[in-house]
Parts: sequence; C-alpha cells; structure tokens
Amino acid sequence: MEQRDSESTDAIIQRLAERQAEGRTESKARLAAIERAMTPQWRATMEAKITRLNSEASSPRSKLPKLYMLMEEVAAVRAPHLACGPGCNACCRTIPVEISDLEARHIAQATGRTMATLPPGRHTPALTGGPHVNTPCPFLVADMCSIYEHRPYNCRSLAVVDRDALTCHEVNTNLTRTKDPRAVPVPMTKMQAFDPSYAALTNRAGTVWADIRQFFPAQSKST
Ligand code: SF4
Ligand code: SF4
Repeated sequence: MEQRDSESTDAIIQRLAERQAEGRTESKARLAAIERAMTPQWRATMEAKITRLNSEASSPRSKLPKLYMLMEEVAAVRAPHLACGPGCNACCRTIPVEISDLEARHIAQATGRTMATLPPGRHTPALTGGPHVNTPCPFLVADMCSIYEHRPYNCRSLAVVDRDALTCHEVNTNLTRTKDPRAVPVPMTKMQAFDPSYAALTNRAGTVWADIRQFFPAQSKST
C-alpha cells in the first residue's frame, strides 16, 4: 500500500519533509519517461484522432464517451509511471471533484442514480471547505471506483507522477488546506491535450459545474 494507515500524523509529516527535501527529481524522471513513451508517431496519431473527434458533427452527449476512450489510450501509456492505481483513492475522499452537468447526466444514465438539479453556473467549492471534506465520493465503493468506465473528465485527466501517493495523504491535504508551510505540493500531471475538446463539449450557456457530491448527494438513490 502507498500509505500506512497506522502511521501517526507526525510520522507522515516527517516523510513529507523527506520527500520535499528530495526535490522533484523523481517526478521529473517519471515525466521524462512518459514523454519518451509518447513517440512522435504516437502523438501524430493521437492528434489526428482528437481532430477527428472535434470535427465530428454529433452531440456532446455522444462525443463524451468517445473523448473518454481517447483518454484511456493516453492513460495506458502513462500508467506505468504514475502513483495512481487500483484501490488508491485518497483523492476520492479529500478533494473537490468538479464535473459538468453533461458528465453528471452520463453517470446518472449509466447508474440509474438521480442527479440533483442545480442552477446554471459554477458551484464547486474551494479546497478549503465544502461537501468533499471528510466525505468520500458517492461512487467510491469498497475502496474502488464503482463507475470506473464512466468516471468524469477530471478523474481521468489528473494523476500523480511519483513513486507513491504520499502527497495525496489527507494529512498533506489538511496542511495544504490550512496553508501550513509543511505542506508539500502534489506532483500532478494533466491530460492538457484534451482540454480544448472537453471545453468545447462543456463550456456552453447554461452549463452547471459542481462537485460530484453536489450532483449526487449520499442520500440520492434511484427509485
Ligand atoms: S491522485 Fe493520488 S490518491 Fe488519487 S489515485 Fe492518484 S496517487 Fe492515488
Ligand atoms: S468518480 Fe470514481 S475516480 Fe472519480 S472521485 Fe469518484 S470514486 Fe474517485
């Protein structure tokens, strides 16, 4: 396991300090390995697929799963170099998970869950406080994502380039939340190449943005 559940807060802070003292060498090496794995030919093929999807004359609803499939191709390339993996879920427990109403409808349709109706606009809370604090994502079941195939854009795009999930530990999240100088930045990577496609699907008049817990409160069940 990446994190040692019985470890004291002081011990975790000590390990965080050691990780900070290492600098970013581990993350840089891993990012470089990802860059090497994405050969020029691989990139050209992927860019062509993205362009094709962007120009497709179909609805955002039908494009979203296709975008997710392309992201899975990228995920397969970077997976060996990430801390993220099955059963690693501190992020699902401690930080906001912003999704759009397009994604919420996709999840509602796939799961039969009822989604909350929210007014247009951005409702996602800051890291410092909101429904995410001490509240796991409603789709985290037995430590695993129960909607893995349908998980939203941000859950696919963001990942940690490190040897383990130490910096995702809730101790570090709480230090970050309180602006404690002992907090260590999380070495995140993002699938930026997909951001314009995602924006084209979701940045529309009337879009609702909210934490996944706001769209699917814990008591929200299908009838
Ligand atoms: S973001 Fe952090 S907690 Fe989430 S899967 Fe990746 S390493 Fe694990
Ligand atoms: S949708 Fe899945 S991956 Fe995303 S926060 Fe929820 S449990 Fe985690």
